[in-house]
Amino acid sequence: MRELLQQTIPNLTGEACDKFVAYYELLVDWNTRMNLTAITEPEEVVKKHFADSLAALPYLAPGVRAVDVGTGAGFPSIPLLIMRPDLKLTLVDSLQKRVTFLEEVLKTLGLSAQCVHARAEEFGRDPRFRASFDAALSRAVASLPVLLELTVPLLKVGGKAICYKGDVSEELKTAKSALHLLHCTAEVVPVEANYGARSLVICTKNAPTPAAYPRKPGMPSKKPL
Ligand code: SAM
Repeated sequence: MRELLQQTIPNLTGEACDKFVAYYELLVDWNTRMNLTAITEPEEVVKKHFADSLAALPYLAPGVRAVDVGTGAGFPSIPLLIMRPDLKLTLVDSLQKRVTFLEEVLKTLGLSAQCVHARAEEFGRDPRFRASFDAALSRAVASLPVLLELTVPLLKVGGKAICYKGDVSEELKTAKSALHLLHCTAEVVPVEANYGARSLVICTKNAPTPAAYPRKPGMPSKKPL
């Protein structure tokens, strides 16, 4: 595991390596009791979960305040936090069991982040969180138009929604209306990977989000913008 991590993740310190190992052990252990991930082989986890999660590192300035919407077992936020403990992260998921797992991971790894059990549609309307983040991360949660409605209301003007995607060319076309309604512009950054096409869609929020968004729970995916 250590060798795999050292080979795959550049600039990995001994301390960060220990944390990834501990995270892996918790992930496979808790995965026997709850549905956290279909990927459990060490090499696959290191490449497809850990290294993949780190793709956003160059786009996160020091001390940035970021939210991970639909974090699940902690991707991308836990790997990012292991490499960059300066990040001020809020991890949001609609399943309480996964939030309990994340709290255990943070405690065991000695990392600090806020975990919130909420649906993104409600979280984005909460005045404590709306328009308060510099960046919103999201990986494997929904299609781009849905993701934009869940993440953009959480951003300050000038903030960026960073969506982890595969080949996004078709999806980007379907997101035109959402980008327009949410006052965003998008840029696609290819990510190097030897397990299929990977990219980051980085959307900049150019003006405040209209009060109508996000709509009530379920609506963003039922009737995408
Ligand atoms: N981001 C993780 C990853 O890359 O492995 C988890 C992906 S998992 C397929 C999707 C996660 O999003 C689940 O944990 C689910 O509970 C959460 N989720 C889906 N819709 C959500 C919503 N509207 N609000 C908050 N969490 C949501």
